[in-house]
Amino acid sequence: MSVHEIVEIGHPVLRERAREVTPEDLRSDAVQGLIDDMIDTMRAANGAGLAANQVAEPVRIAVVEVREGNPRYPYKPPVPLTVIVNPVIEPVDDEIEQINEGCLSVPNLRGEVPRHVNVRMRYLDRDGAEHEEVRRGLTAGTFQHELDHLDGVLIIDRTSPEQRREALAKLRPQPVLGPAG
Ligand code: ZN
Repeated sequence: MSVHEIVEIGHPVLRERAREVTPEDLRSDAVQGLIDDMIDTMRAANGAGLAANQVAEPVRIAVVEVREGNPRYPYKPPVPLTVIVNPVIEPVDDEIEQINEGCLSVPNLRGEVPRHVNVRMRYLDRDGAEHEEVRRGLTAGTFQHELDHLDGVLIIDRTSPEQRREALAKLRPQPVLGPAG
């Protein structure tokens, strides 16, 4: 198990639609090892979740875990470690709320992102077992964020234009100032 480098905005893999994982792939040592490494990488970065694109592997796998007292997300309710493979999410109703989100791949940006409050989620776990669950509130938002990554979508695509401009300005390299005078 090891911690991987998390790729940041500007890397093309973050804009790729990740491919489905076949049952054979899921059973492979390579994919099981990738899942272990994603868990380590998420925990090392204090993330609430991590999608495979963020470690430059465009496959439809994400991990989510919110432990009590997470310093990046002190307001999020705890979520036990959940590995989702080939996830599909659909809204249960029309209720939307703005959630303040950050992203390990978009440093220095926090933005208000509209998310469905109640979603039905279908996915395989790492053993290939099928799950269907309803998730609500901030937890539903976290899963929608990870699913966005698997579709090549980042939070700057969903924030207001003002927040997007501010974020992109911060991401640009700052000009090197010459000596004053
Ligand atoms: Zn993210």
